[in-house]
Amino acid sequence: MIRSIGIALLMVVCTGAQQSVGPIPRQTILAELVAANRILANEGVMDSYGHVSMRDPGNPGSFFLSRDIPPGNVSAADILQYDLDGNAIAAGNASSYSERFIHSEIYRARPDVMAVVHAHSQEVIPFAATGIPLQPLFHMAAFLGVGIPVFDPRDAGSSGDLSVRSPAMGKSLAATLGAKPGLLMRGHGMVLVGPSLHVAVARSYYMNANAQLQVQSAQLGGTSKVHYLDADETMKASPVDNYERAWAWWKQRAEKGK
Ligand code: MN
Repeated sequence: MIRSIGIALLMVVCTGAQQSVGPIPRQTILAELVAANRILANEGVMDSYGHVSMRDPGNPGSFFLSRDIPPGNVSAADILQYDLDGNAIAAGNASSYSERFIHSEIYRARPDVMAVVHAHSQEVIPFAATGIPLQPLFHMAAFLGVGIPVFDPRDAGSSGDLSVRSPAMGKSLAATLGAKPGLLMRGHGMVLVGPSLHVAVARSYYMNANAQLQVQSAQLGGTSKVHYLDADETMKASPVDNYERAWAWWKQRAEKGK
């Protein structure tokens, strides 16, 4: 009894010593998010645009996201904390991504989501443009088998600006996402979410890879002959390590700059 109280007190003291309320130190969260930005840029998922965020596990009503700079340049000092209205906390003179409402409204609508990636991946653009659905071709992208919806800004009341620059547009996008792992944005790009930062980043990478493979397969055999993963394979084929090996490898590559 005394021992367990002692452990509990130790946990409170340790937690109080950290800037984040939760068990993960703030500096660890920022380091993870820096790595995610560098990985997505280094692996070609993002160019000079796009952004990745992580919910604060110790304060689920807020999330971390870089200020408005290219992902490949992000350092810990660039990362801001936001509330679920998309307001930066203590931003100073730093400017925010105009599309931060993609993140804030998904976190509001989906308590299970711990990370969000938004990218302008050219590989996926043809799918939303044609209405041909993305379908899983290999086990690394089995998550696509649940169906990837398409968000059309016109349906959300956009006047032609294809970006999500308001809470209302963010809410509409989150409604289109529903319980799915990601969506396509017509004429714009994609959004992936995950129960962890590593999974959200890996889903982004493998959705792009699958899009390339799907185009190649269609060119080889015609769409009617392509053999996609079936429903059973979709359920069973996800990587057993939740992409942790991929994350470690990509992080190493990004740190080496190759
Ligand atoms: Mn965008």
